[in-house]
Amino acid sequence: MSERVLVVGSGGREHVLAWKLAQSPQIQQVLVAPGNAGTANCGKISNSEVSISNHTILAQFCKDHHVGLVVVGPEVPLAAGIVDDLTAAGVLCFGPSAKAAQLEASKSFSKAFMERHSIPTARYGSFTDPQEACNYIRTADFPALVVKASGLAAGKGVIVAKDQDEACQAVMDIMKDRAFGAAGETVVVEELLEGEEVSCLCFSDGFTVSPMPPAQDHKRLQDGDVGPNTGGMGAYCPTPQVSQELLQQIRETVLQKTVDGMREEGAPYIGVLYAGLMLTKQGPKVLEFNCRFGDPECQVLLPLLKSDLYEVILNTMNGKLASSTPLWHQDSSAVTVVMASAGYPGSYKKGVEITGLSQVQETGLQVFHAGTGLKEGGVVSSGGRVLTITAVRSSLEAALQAANQGVATVGFPGAVYRRDIGHRAIAHLNQHRGLTYKD
Ligand code: AMP
Repeated sequence: MSERVLVVGSGGREHVLAWKLAQSPQIQQVLVAPGNAGTANCGKISNSEVSISNHTILAQFCKDHHVGLVVVGPEVPLAAGIVDDLTAAGVLCFGPSAKAAQLEASKSFSKAFMERHSIPTARYGSFTDPQEACNYIRTADFPALVVKASGLAAGKGVIVAKDQDEACQAVMDIMKDRAFGAAGETVVVEELLEGEEVSCLCFSDGFTVSPMPPAQDHKRLQDGDVGPNTGGMGAYCPTPQVSQELLQQIRETVLQKTVDGMREEGAPYIGVLYAGLMLTKQGPKVLEFNCRFGDPECQVLLPLLKSDLYEVILNTMNGKLASSTPLWHQDSSAVTVVMASAGYPGSYKKGVEITGLSQVQETGLQVFHAGTGLKEGGVVSSGGRVLTITAVRSSLEAALQAANQGVATVGFPGAVYRRDIGHRAIAHLNQHRGLTYKD
């Protein structure tokens, strides 16, 4: 049967989800709500203006337009119960329930959950009273501290403090001045972990976890991992720093334990589970859980997925992952480089014309749009992260080179991007080959 599916969201992650779903011979049409310029009338893919915040309207739309499956990109609708509401209305919707999405939506829940299930993570305290949080900071025996708003804060609610005073100030900013609104009514204070960060995602059908290849994001704006934190400036996959053995360890000690624990606690986790990990000297420890694909990790993961994403999603929803493991392209690497607006992550201009999009696609690269819109037939910027350029090649080095060439082809005035995506992997590979490397 030919299906119509609807992807919820408007970023690069949603563009690549739509792109991959459109490759399924079982899918006739992919709607994206609200989508971006990249998902507007592109083959099987088109945008829809249906409301995604009103779940009653959305459910009715799906029934009226014969949408057989809804795939949710971002965390906010998941935490708001989109899966619960659409399912109750008889519409198939892929992602965790609101209860299961608490793993991301409440850091205080996820820290207590990890403690209950002995999942490795930083030592912490959770507080609803700023004075108690500061007392904890003053008496904690950690060398350095991180202060986090417990709720969803669009990736901005984390402050790495250089000393106790700065940590207490962060508590006051979050709790008294409500820097992140209601997300900061509870704060988590935890020890600073040192090491390399990696993103390990899996599909979970509530029982079985099927890990994806490990990926690495680059959060800081500028080369050399300096400058302000962003939503992510680029990613690559797989990360050679995570060996098969380490991935197996992460699968057992983090992913499987989490899925088993959620099921035991009456909130079966069905969907994509993302563990943000720090590879510490004591082993991998969880920094955060996300209840969906990461952006930009999704732009390097899905191009490496060999299986039909539509089938993988149905198997995940139907508890069939044990008997139908998703397959990945084993001999390829993917790199994605984000191009952002001048001024990002601060304020930036919108409506800036983008050129070179068709030329870059002719070279076998994929452009996944994020903050883009259409204006008088042309594509213009409409957000901070404007687009990502993804290359898939037989080696990481080749993929890096191709993605960087793509960035040189696409252009818009003031574009900001990094030129050193994958630098940790290159250092690791060089070390492995016996070459010297100076960071
Ligand atoms: P989170 O949203 O909790 O993952 O935090 C966002 C970013 O803050 C992470 O990607 C890390 O770079 C950093 N971070 C969070 N928690 C810690 C920690 N305990 N130690 C060091 N860095 C951290």
